[in-house]
Amino acid sequence: MEGKIVKVSGPLVIAKGMSGSKMYDVVRVSEKRLIGEIIELKGDLASLQVYEETAGVGPGEPVYPTFEPLSVELGPGLIESIYDGIQRPLDIIRETSGDNIARGITLPGLDRKKEWHFKPLMKKGEKVTGGDIIGEVQETILITHRVMIPPELSGEIVEIKEGDFKVEDIVCKLKTQGGLKEITLMQRWPVRRSRPYKEKLPPEIPMYTGQRVIDTFFPIAKGGTACVPGPFGSGKTVIQHQISKWADTDIILFVGCGERGNEMADVLIEFPQLKDPKSGEPLMKRTILIANTSNMPIAAREASVYTGITIAEYFRDMGYSVALQADSTSRWAEAMREMSGRLEEMPGEEGYPAYLGTRVAEFYERAGRVRCLGSDNRRGMLTVIGSVSPMGGDIADPVVQATLRVVKVFWSLEDKLAEARHFPAVNWLTSYSLYKDSIREWVKEKVAKEFPDLVKEAMRILGEEAELQDIVRLVGIESLSQSDRLLLEVARSIREDFLHQNAFHEIDTYTSALKQYRMLKVILCFYDKAKEALKRGITVDRISKLKVLEDIAKAKYIEEDKLKDIEKIEKEIEIEIQGLK
Ligand code: ADP
Repeated sequence: MEGKIVKVSGPLVIAKGMSGSKMYDVVRVSEKRLIGEIIELKGDLASLQVYEETAGVGPGEPVYPTFEPLSVELGPGLIESIYDGIQRPLDIIRETSGDNIARGITLPGLDRKKEWHFKPLMKKGEKVTGGDIIGEVQETILITHRVMIPPELSGEIVEIKEGDFKVEDIVCKLKTQGGLKEITLMQRWPVRRSRPYKEKLPPEIPMYTGQRVIDTFFPIAKGGTACVPGPFGSGKTVIQHQISKWADTDIILFVGCGERGNEMADVLIEFPQLKDPKSGEPLMKRTILIANTSNMPIAAREASVYTGITIAEYFRDMGYSVALQADSTSRWAEAMREMSGRLEEMPGEEGYPAYLGTRVAEFYERAGRVRCLGSDNRRGMLTVIGSVSPMGGDIADPVVQATLRVVKVFWSLEDKLAEARHFPAVNWLTSYSLYKDSIREWVKEKVAKEFPDLVKEAMRILGEEAELQDIVRLVGIESLSQSDRLLLEVARSIREDFLHQNAFHEIDTYTSALKQYRMLKVILCFYDKAKEALKRGITVDRISKLKVLEDIAKAKYIEEDKLKDIEKIEKEIEIEIQGLK
């Protein structure tokens, strides 16, 4: 049944005698049993994408089919794990084979020996369908693992147990039309197929990150998609950490397709040190890391992305809100380009395969807010944030363009802003969010009715500032009217007092939606009152010396439980401006 290698070209291996296999089946290559996937089949000739270093492997050696697609193991033990792209636990591999992972190592994604306490939530005799939650396991101090009937099964419970079980132990038996089925704590799912749900729902609920430039100006919805470029030093890592720590989601998945080994080492060292601010526990108690190690070929990045999103979908299916961050999808696209080149496919733009756009779109389409399978009508959310790292920061890059065609939010991180110490270095003129309309009702109801209008006004002011600055550069500030100068003063306040946010300041690191509203309101209140003063003939010079401007600048440091103090500033504005004679 085994095939035979006819050619090896880096991560691409061509084998004959493979007619029994299907596309995307996993194969083991040579006696080293390297892990690969079939990515092209022509008659009995298969092209294999190998996820481990192929040096020393040559023609004539065997290829062993497994007749199974690349799949992940889903069950208790996922949280806190650090996996490579094919779900091998990196920490355990390192213990057994050191930093240089021996080739052909197979290790199950889930610990086979560990016991979990399973608490049933359903009884014998009850009817269940795919997605129904039959019981729970306390996976970590922060996450309850909901044990679900696999999507394709339905029937009647004939036996359900309580107690301590390993992931392969049978906890429940079902009478189905196809006979008796045994349910364990673990299920498997092929990574290239999205997990099913009942219905996709509109993305109407914002995912708050506590970062003002994001939540107020360029919000992302739960179940939405975003893209962020990250020129070196622009603060991409800080943003990723802030989102991981502060976003109001239950579970964080971080997929690192790093270029150099040490980039990934940073992720592996930094993430486990992060603290979950809400619980005080290590953030890993609700995090899963997937990282390609430097000694894996770049083809393995492809697997990481799919492995990550499949695990994320599984937790979404439990009814959780999950945020997946993929860093960087450009590296994944480079893997596609390399394989495509080796396959001698007709290249598209800049050597990327013609299907680049389709692959990228299919990946982001797995995000969403959904009605989950199962009869309890629960909702699950999977938000996907992908970073891109185009060569030379060129936004015309095919990967960036393919991504921008599908994602709905763009946080335009810029090194120029970072150099000017404007953090987060998100450019307010070139970033966008297409969720503003879909979340508007939610924001009006839960935060403040007038908030969306205030945001619009603030954006208008910033846009106008940019135009006025052009004029100032040409003919100098003297040419501006008093009202234009006032607008510049207000725009400065929006930028410095609102958009600037110090991730390392105890209070400033996180701002609730309500506080964001109050902060913006105070700035715009100042603008209104100051405009009235201008009409009375007061000059901008005098207005900009008011003491209350210092209070506005310090509003960001007011604690969340003292938001009344921000309202008080509005009174102060009125008094001081009225006092100008
Ligand atoms: P990148 O990952 O893009 O190379 P980092 O995220 O490491 O960049 O950020 C570089 C530096 O910029 C940080 O060490 C920090 O000093 C500063 N920085 C970035 N974002 C912020 C922020 N929100 N608040 C304060 N400082 C920041």
